[in-house]
Amino acid sequence: MNGTQTVQGGEIHPPAVVKLLQIGRRKFQRLLGDTGQGFDNLRWDTRSLQKETVSGLPRYLRFSCLQSQEALPSAYVEIVKCWMLLQYATSVRTLWHALQAAKCLWASLQQGQKESFAWSSLSEAVLNEFEVWLAARYHPTTVHHRLSLIIKLGSFLAARNICRPLYYVIQTSSPRAVAKLTLAGQEADKEKLPTPRALQALADLYQQQAREPADRLLLAATAILVVTGLRLTELLTLPEDCEVREMHQGQEVYGLRYYKEKTRGREKMLAVRWLTPLQAELAEEAIGEIRQLTARARERASVLEAHPERVPIPGYEPDGRVDSPTLADIVGLKSWRSIRNHPWIELPSQREHGETRYHYRIRDVETFLLRFRHTPLWVIDRGDNSQQLLSETLLIMPRNFLDSRTNPQWLLVEPIKAGHLQRFLATGQGVKSIFERLDIREADGSPCRLTSHQFRHWLNDLADKGGMPVDDISRWMGRESWQETEAYRHATPDERLAWVRQGIRDGRIQGMVSAAFFELPLAERDSFLEGQVQAVHFTPMGLCVHDFAIEPCPYHLNCVRGCPDYLRTKGSPMERRRLLQVQADTEKALTYARQYAADHQVETAVAWVTHHEKTLAGIEAALAVDEQGDEPNGKLVKPEQGANHGQEM
Ligand code: SF4
Repeated sequence: MNGTQTVQGGEIHPPAVVKLLQIGRRKFQRLLGDTGQGFDNLRWDTRSLQKETVSGLPRYLRFSCLQSQEALPSAYVEIVKCWMLLQYATSVRTLWHALQAAKCLWASLQQGQKESFAWSSLSEAVLNEFEVWLAARYHPTTVHHRLSLIIKLGSFLAARNICRPLYYVIQTSSPRAVAKLTLAGQEADKEKLPTPRALQALADLYQQQAREPADRLLLAATAILVVTGLRLTELLTLPEDCEVREMHQGQEVYGLRYYKEKTRGREKMLAVRWLTPLQAELAEEAIGEIRQLTARARERASVLEAHPERVPIPGYEPDGRVDSPTLADIVGLKSWRSIRNHPWIELPSQREHGETRYHYRIRDVETFLLRFRHTPLWVIDRGDNSQQLLSETLLIMPRNFLDSRTNPQWLLVEPIKAGHLQRFLATGQGVKSIFERLDIREADGSPCRLTSHQFRHWLNDLADKGGMPVDDISRWMGRESWQETEAYRHATPDERLAWVRQGIRDGRIQGMVSAAFFELPLAERDSFLEGQVQAVHFTPMGLCVHDFAIEPCPYHLNCVRGCPDYLRTKGSPMERRRLLQVQADTEKALTYARQYAADHQVETAVAWVTHHEKTLAGIEAALAVDEQGDEPNGKLVKPEQGANHGQEM
């Protein structure tokens, strides 16, 4: 962190900062240099970085303070810019989140009157103050997210010798982890699933009730979400030729080709979501209807793509002229009088000698329409110098297609965007959802509402409860790691209890209860199991099947000390983290005690040492569950300990 100081942009910078700024500026040039913007600008236009044009991402990044338009200090923000560019340039969404976290940190520093803050002074104390500041203003999820980003910024700077390495443990509990451990949390988790009433209403609307083309289009799109569990942007960027049929073991299998939203690099990769025969039937029907509704828009999109500088009007030459009624007809206005209203009033008009009506030059109309054309003319940038054009996309429509107050403008074509579908399923921005329009309500009288992501949770939940291994769910859903599937598992304690009992019956869960179960005559086994395994409880280290109505916890919550009622969820990152933390704490305590005994020539209490050693052995056994090859991830497993670790109290 020491070294020759260098003056740059009026600030004196240490060499490590100078080097980072050089790299950051070079990266900026590569990414945004040809847009005419500068690294030091107060605002960056990020549209050229967006990989898809359907997700409603922010177009601009504004490097101003959180609650005002005042620019962030350059010495502060230029480091933030470099971090964002070097770490998150592949995702505009993450760039935005990183900037928000940095804005919050600056607001927290200002409250602590640290206007003279330098990155070299980033410390655990600063992070702690920042956490307190965040916790007073935001939901714990946001606290976690923003603080995690700033901790990552700290690691980024430490790796470049700009600040010292930081060791900071977030104090705010992760809401997701807490949710798994409390009844209230588990209830709240259930809200991620659609209500049965809303699902039924959706099915009725799709099958019979909805007739308007705009509703049909959005319902058919929703039907694809329901049967595939795709993410919203994955649905909206489906190619027109998305259907895949292949022969597998003599049977035709059906799937949909889609662009995975989460990819590691900048390139967008195609994946296939294979479907069961019933899902396939529904998907085929929905796609057939969408193709019918969007065929004309796709034809028109091809014309626009062939003339990227114009909005050609079929049957008219640019030098031609038309009167008001003809113009209204061409552009799809309900009445020619609308031309007098905004925005058409801005269109140049002429009335030559002898003409009774105003006339409009076609060239002017084309130029005028260009303002409203969806730009760019593609939906997804594949990241390999090619794009999926509008005409190659399944879910496109003419402009104003979803607005019942006007006619569709077939001269202009746009993709269906995330907001369109979100507002269709849940009222927002002054647009009533289909449920509110048709007065479809929940039992408590509130209008039904759905979010696009609920279908993904619902499908995962069905697969999970149906006993599909987590690894298989993850592969099916196109996830890179099975841990991501954890967030989608919503089984209740009762459902998990049933799994535990079934696991013992199938011989997949072993231990004292299981051994006793198999020693009993067949007729007595089920009632033994009902009596012995009466409840499951979540502990930070796994699952507990102890019946606390009979006796309190015999191991004082130290589950890893050979408790026969302790089960681990194989591969669970949350349990593993907690086990590693207890392991580190126990090792530290043991080392300290031994060192103290050696230094002071005293004896350490043998029982105390034995207790810690057995805890460590139990932790090892619990961690080893993750390495056991024969059970799939997500299954409940009884940790196997050495013979002498099982019973000691
Ligand atoms: S020690 Fe055993 S009984 Fe106690 S909470 Fe842990 S698993 Fe349950």
